Amino acid sequence: MTDENGRIRGMNDEAPPGHDPYTAYDEFDLPTYVGLPSFQKLPWVTDAAALAERRPDVAIVGAPFDDAVSHRPGARFGPRAIRQASYHSGAINSLQLGVEPYEWLDVVDAGDAPVVPMDIERGHDVIKRKVAEVAAAGAIPIVLGGDHSITFPSASAVAEAVAPRGLGIVHFDAHADAAPSTWGNLRSHGTPMRRLIESGAVAGANFVQVGLRGYWPGPATLEWMREHQMRWHLMTEIEERGAEAVVRDAIAEALDGPEVIYVSVDIDVIDPGMAPGTGTPEPGGMLTRELLRAVRQVVGAVELAGMDIVEVAPPFDHAEVTAAAAHRCVLEALSALAARRREAGASPIASGAAVSETSGGG
Ligand code: MN
Ligand code: MN
Repeated sequence: MTDENGRIRGMNDEAPPGHDPYTAYDEFDLPTYVGLPSFQKLPWVTDAAALAERRPDVAIVGAPFDDAVSHRPGARFGPRAIRQASYHSGAINSLQLGVEPYEWLDVVDAGDAPVVPMDIERGHDVIKRKVAEVAAAGAIPIVLGGDHSITFPSASAVAEAVAPRGLGIVHFDAHADAAPSTWGNLRSHGTPMRRLIESGAVAGANFVQVGLRGYWPGPATLEWMREHQMRWHLMTEIEERGAEAVVRDAIAEALDGPEVIYVSVDIDVIDPGMAPGTGTPEPGGMLTRELLRAVRQVVGAVELAGMDIVEVAPPFDHAEVTAAAAHRCVLEALSALAARRREAGASPIASGAAVSETSGGG
């Protein structure tokens, strides 16, 4: 990933020698606060035909939708906040995993699903279509929410794309989100996991939840979850056994049958002291560093088919700390995917291809 001057593109540890300052840096190399905030300044490839032609390894998708929240709204602003919660331009180097993700993966920003407010069914339909377009192009969708109701259309699209292979789900959350309805609404952010199991997208036994705590749901919903063989790991279990052991079990349970995994991260699994920008904060949660490690652990151990990171509500955030945690969840997933690819003996992607296409403003 070096340019004609031997600079490592995007790292910006040195200036390009002898260039006109007006044209010295292209879009990819400019600071994140300059220009349009695609995720990591990656190429903005929103068109289905262009995605199908390029066939990226991973595509970031925005789902700016929060019409299905039960309490504080604001997650519709999540995708934009997560995209801009980075002080890095495109090229990155994971110190945790010792890998440069974009050397191994072609990653694009596929833009947002064309959501409009006040119509839950329509919002879910366009999110499902957008995720399906990305999956049909051979890319792993990483979806930025949005409230957690978007996991119903998003994971449904992924389940359809990987069929006949079975899909397991590892779901990080303070909440089970498996209620029958919320005040009669089937598509709320408290119900998506139930919809996914009822629709047959995922078997209950392969739906594994990590981090549950607090005072919801009630006994009837827990009984329904038991009847459908859902498995969950309370926050108290993480306190007692440590996150790594719990996540190891969760991976095995989700893969007990299925071959591929969808990861759903509700940012409220993190303690609200570290991630206050969310709609239904639940005290007593994971540390940010525990969640980031867990994302590396899961993505490093499974075949990832899709992922979402939801419930970032910027109006309640402070100092962008919640958006930054969500942004880092995505980077940890990309890094783990890249490390897996390297360990599987793959070759790095064509030297500088991703960068030079970005540089072209594509
Ligand atoms: Mn949730
Ligand atoms: Mn939650």
